[in-house]
Order: sequence, then structure tokens, then C-alpha cells
Amino acid sequence: PLEIAREFVLNKFGLQSEDYVVRDVYQTQVPPVHHVYLRQRISGLEVANANMNINIDGENRIISFGSAPGSQRPQLYRREPVLAPTDAVVRLAQFMRTPIQNPDQIVELMFENLDGEGPAMVLQDVDISTDGDVPVGMSFIATDGGELVQTYSIVLQTDQAWVHAFVDTQGGNVVALNSWTAHAQYRVFPLGANDPEADQRQLVDSQSLAPGFSATWHSMANGTTFTDTQGNNVHAQADPTGRGDWLNLPRPQGNKDLQFDFPLDLTQAPSAYSDAAITNLFYWNNIIHDIFYSYGFNEVAGNFQTSNGDKGGRGGDAVVANGQNGAGTNNADFATPPDGIRPRMRMYLWTVTNPQRDGDLESDIIIHEYGHGISNRLTGGPANANCLGWGESGGMGEGWSDFFSVVFRMKATHTASDNMLLGEYVMAGRGIRRYPYSINQGTNPFSYASLNSISTYDPHTIGTVWASILYELYWNLLETLPFQPDLYSASPNHGNTLALLLVVTGLKLQPCRPTFVTARNAIVQAEELLTHGQNKCAVWRAFAKRGLGIDA
Ligand SMILES: [Zn+2]
Repeated sequence: PLEIAREFVLNKFGLQSEDYVVRDVYQTQVPPVHHVYLRQRISGLEVANANMNINIDGENRIISFGSAPGSQRPQLYRREPVLAPTDAVVRLAQFMRTPIQNPDQIVELMFENLDGEGPAMVLQDVDISTDGDVPVGMSFIATDGGELVQTYSIVLQTDQAWVHAFVDTQGGNVVALNSWTAHAQYRVFPLGANDPEADQRQLVDSQSLAPGFSATWHSMANGTTFTDTQGNNVHAQADPTGRGDWLNLPRPQGNKDLQFDFPLDLTQAPSAYSDAAITNLFYWNNIIHDIFYSYGFNEVAGNFQTSNGDKGGRGGDAVVANGQNGAGTNNADFATPPDGIRPRMRMYLWTVTNPQRDGDLESDIIIHEYGHGISNRLTGGPANANCLGWGESGGMGEGWSDFFSVVFRMKATHTASDNMLLGEYVMAGRGIRRYPYSINQGTNPFSYASLNSISTYDPHTIGTVWASILYELYWNLLETLPFQPDLYSASPNHGNTLALLLVVTGLKLQPCRPTFVTARNAIVQAEELLTHGQNKCAVWRAFAKRGLGIDA
């Protein structure tokens, strides 16, 4: 595969082997694809952000490639730095607001030429560094405008932060900064938990992100970092009037240590625990982003991120999540514009109980709302947000969201005789759908034929029919395949994760304005692609049981 990739970049961009370095080569099994990652090199210096990835299938065909070289100007030469490495680190420290007290005691220890990969120099006795050392290399950075800037590449770990920064060797500007820090903590109802009635809050670390993420829960790829509930995937804030300008609304503050640990007194009105609620909302938006990423809702598929780095798709569309929203009650909603435009999630308070309850504390509601964004972006392609507007399509939009919520709640201890409700906490135990999700047709009698007696304008009930069918699919798969407690794994060899894979893949395969029949066909096709007929019977049995079999 590496030779195929080398030939490809030679023909496509005229890059010889000295024009790039090979960063990674690995193979995924399902589907069988080789991934080759190259980084451009000019005059012996790497271009730190000119990364190319080339994907090669089992028959040695190039099936896709991401991004182009940062520059194709062969005549570009490195220049003699104006700034010494120590001065660059001093500039960086000022930029990070942790100034170096004694720059005069820093020793520059060169152990190689400033060439190629890895650090070439270590600065010793840097007083803000946790161990005194700061590795420094040199590389080019390609700016958004396509210019190449020659920079010192500096890895600096202090008590507050751990960053990989790039400082202009001529002018001393901090051109880019990536935060490697991941010590944030949140007191939330974490993944696997659902709400205050069913679970206890826990103090959890931010999940380590999957390899390849350049931005984090609290930073953008361009180096912008946040100490509140904002990052590359979501901006979460409280909007009590329902009309606030989201940028300037109040947010929980984690301070420099990113500690989001706030009191939650449920005997008080929700406004008294706004910080705890928004922290939960922020955490869940990130968790949902990260998990669905591994199921294929990524940059090219139109996911919600401010920076997409070099991974394709349109950025600029992290979720704007306005919690404790005063625009309504007893509901929540999610508006999905096309890729590149920010979606908006609104979580309302529920008036069934006194004091009122807050949907921000119930993960199945957050997942349901985020799920609308996923089904809308995946059906008909990222640029088309109008495929699930009304009728059967609109109803299935509700159904996919319910199904995602149910799957996220499932534990190894659940069995096929369990009934699942949505909105159990905010509705004080009642749930918000006409029937619970159950494979018992006495408990939930819905079938495809039920659509005849449901109004076209009742998407939630149409959706309950659709998700009832998907619930059958879920348990059919678990009859033969084991349960996978790690939802991130996206494994086709486990029942619950295969159910999610089939549904997400089906969303990508189905046509715009799908019907129950065309959406079913897409799931059948997804099974063929993912498990090659091994689970075909389980899939068809689920549809047939609820009247959507082959003759429907
Ligand atoms: Zn909905």
C-alpha cells in the first residue's frame, strides 16, 4: 500500500519521496482498508499541518484521499531565523500568560541539526516547564491563505497546560497552538447513566479522544482554547429568556484546571443549579459527538465541529446548545441547517412536577435531540437538510432519535423482556410516547399498518412505530451476538454496536425523503455491506414481525 500511495502522490502532485515523510501506515479490518498518512517536506523541513491521507482498499485501489500538499512551490528555501529558540519560547510563554521569570538562565542544548522529524534542540532550566526542559524543532506551517511560515515547533508542559505550539522564526508570532491537555473533570450523569431518578452523578475525566482528533472538548484546531463549556464540538450555555445572544450567555467556568464540579439541589428551582445542568449538557453533546464519530458521523459526513482540520467537510458548525431555555416548556428541539452552518439545540424545563425538572439532566432527551442532527445530515448528504421534513420521513426522524436514546441506555443487564421509556425523569415516570419500547406486542402493538390510523402530522407517533421496529432489530441481533459495553468500539461483531452501525449506515444509503420501505431496504443493504448476510435473517425477522416484511 505504501508503494501505491507513493505512486499516487507522484502522479497527482509531483511529489518525490524527499518531498514528504511517512507518518503512519495501518490497516482496518472492517471494511479492509489501508490508511497511509504522509506529511509534506520542503527544503528538508516538514510542513507540520500539510498532512495527506490516502485510503486503499483490499484490491489495491485508491478509494479516497484527503487534502492536498500545503504548497507546491519547489523553490521555497528555509531562511536563517531572526529569533533565537529561547526568544521564541519566551514569546510563547507570554502568549500563554505564564511568563518566564528568568530567561537568562536558559541553556540551549543542540543535539542535531534543526532538520526532519522530532525535536532537534532542548532548552534546559526553563522555569515554567514542569521538568525544566522544552524540546524545540523547526517546521513550516501552511496558513489558511496558503502561505508557508517557517516556525519553531515547541512542546511546552507547564502546571497549567501542555501544548505543541508553532512560533514564527522571523517575527515571533505564535502561528498555531495545539493543546494536549486532557485533565478536565465534570460532575455529571455520565455515559451509561440517564437521569437523577435512575442514577447518581459522578466526577469523570473527559474521555480521551480517538486518535486523529486535532481539536478537543475545550480547544479549536487553530489554537483557541476555552475554560468554560465551549470547544470544537459544542458551545453550551443557559438561555433563561429563550432569546439570548448565545455568544454572550452565561456558562459554567472550569477555570484553568477545567474542573466542572457544581452543586445540584433538586429541591430548588432549576435556575439554582444552572451550572450543574449546563455542564451535563456540554458533557453529553461531546460524548454523542465522539461516539457517533466512530460510527461514521465524521467530518466528511457533515458532523458538527468548528474546526475540521484537514479531514474534509465543512467546519464552522459546532452545536449551539442553549439549556434551561425559556422559549418553551415541556419539550426540546434541534434545528439542523446544511453542513457548515451551526445547528441549535434548545432544552426546556418541564412543568409536570414542582419544582420543575430540567431536560438538561436527562441524557435520553439530549441524545434524541442530537439524533435529529445526525439523521438530517446523513440522509441526502451533508449539504441537504430538507430530506426528513414531514410525513413518513419526518416521523422516522423522530424514530431514529428515540432509537439512539434507547441504545445508549442499554446495559449488559438488560434483557429482551425490558420495556424502555423516553423522558421518564422529566415526566415523573410516565414517559413521552404512546407505548413503551417493547418486543411484547401486548405492551406495544404498533406495526407498519398502524400508520393508516396515525395522522401524517403526528411525527412522534409515526416515529414510535419506526423505533418499535428498530427495537425488534436490536434484540434480534443480541440473540446471537454478544453485548459490547464499550459503545465507542463500533464493532459489527456485537449486537448493540452492530444495531447502531446498521442504522447509521442505512441513513447514509437511503434516498432523500425516505419511506418505511426505502429506509428498511437501506438497513438490509447495510447488513450486506457490513456482515455479508450473516445477520440477514435477524434483520428481516424484525421487519416482518411488525408488518414491514418483504411483501409490505
Ligand atoms: Zn424529536
